[in-house]
Amino acid sequence: MPFTPFHMGPGLAVKAMLGRRFSILSFGLAQVAIDIEPGLGMLRGAERLHGWTHTYLGATLIAIAVTFLAAPVCLWILRRWNAELRHHGLYSLTTPDAFAPGSIGLGAFIGTYSHVALDSLMHSDMRPLAPFTFSNVLLGAVSIPHLHVVCVVAGLAGIAWWGLAARARKRGDSA
Ligand SMILES: [Zn+2]
Repeated sequence: MPFTPFHMGPGLAVKAMLGRRFSILSFGLAQVAIDIEPGLGMLRGAERLHGWTHTYLGATLIAIAVTFLAAPVCLWILRRWNAELRHHGLYSLTTPDAFAPGSIGLGAFIGTYSHVALDSLMHSDMRPLAPFTFSNVLLGAVSIPHLHVVCVVAGLAGIAWWGLAARARKRGDSA
């Protein structure tokens, strides 16, 4: 489906768990990149929206492309974000102005794979394992409202954890 905030929920939870080893920026860019195909399909009024991009094979190719193309974009956003935080005196929320090795790739791959998994639960035109099989065993495994609640809770838990970790860091600095 075209990119929604729900897709970011699991990413925020993973960010809370993995910290600097995982780039939430490349995760987000991967969400946008993978939904270009259904977005264009909607504009064209296409009958089937989720084609090759919403297969695990397509997700692998998109993650590779995002890993190589997103680094300068992510770096620019990160530096701007840090500059903005410093401007407002929020030093405890800043992170180093560089990415940990592998973090952009990890964000991109978890981004596209989790996207295909989530969309597989919702969309009847999905063929996530194509070209090996055209069935979608995950379709309808969880109701859409439940899925949205899980994504929102995961996102809020991730943000809360991130905030607590930043506060703990601040206390550590001032101790
Ligand atoms: Zn999608």
